[in-house]
Amino acid sequence: MSRVFVITGPSGVGKGTLIRQLLDRVPGLELSVSATTRAPRPGEEHGVAYHFLSDEDFARRVDEGDFVEWAEYSGRRYGTLRSELRKRTDAGAPVLLEIEVQGARQVLDSLPEAVRIFIAPPSAEVLRTRLVGRGTDGDAEIERRLQVAEEELAAQGEFAHVVENDRLEDAIDELVAIVRTHLDG
Ligand code: ADP
Ligand code: 5GP
Repeated sequence: MSRVFVITGPSGVGKGTLIRQLLDRVPGLELSVSATTRAPRPGEEHGVAYHFLSDEDFARRVDEGDFVEWAEYSGRRYGTLRSELRKRTDAGAPVLLEIEVQGARQVLDSLPEAVRIFIAPPSAEVLRTRLVGRGTDGDAEIERRLQVAEEELAAQGEFAHVVENDRLEDAIDELVAIVRTHLDG
């Protein structure tokens, strides 16, 4: 029975929003805290939102084999630390990874038993509206993220589950059902 869930999909599609509610609805499910070289956004705490690492520290930890997967996204590096995953699986907790598509592909090799879920937007226009509406990224960064999104959307067929995040409540119900089915056996 798989105990690792991967949630992927383009930036702004609603992964973080869905995950917050999923964690409330599935007791015991834990979110792995990723490492990144990007700067913290206002309000993001070190060790909570991410482990914020310098380029040098991230590179050293790549060399030391500390990552289950890592990828470059919009000029920054993001990765899942083995230690983050292991401390949760060793404690018997089911774990959620929230990662971009290149990393989700690597997980197919490193953790083939993981349940991989792609979150899709109803349309490219809606994705843009959400990224702009979130208000966390400047215009240039939004354009970069939308460009990457085109490739990411083309990859959704690689994933066992695709959940469209149109009406939030429907998407959450669908996500909860997928996770519960795998946990309950
Ligand atoms: P991601 O984590 O995938 O980058 P977020 O969870 O930050 O995306 O969501 C991006 C923006 O879209 C946020 O402002 C969020 O409130 C909004 N959002 C998420 N899901 C929906 C939805 N189903 N309908 C409308 N807005 C949504
Ligand atoms: P953001 O800068 O918006 O927090 O994240 C940018 C992208 O990086 C998102 O698509 C997010 O899912 C992805 N991401 C976050 N953590 C990881 C990780 O550990 N590994 C990979 N491969 N991507 C990640």
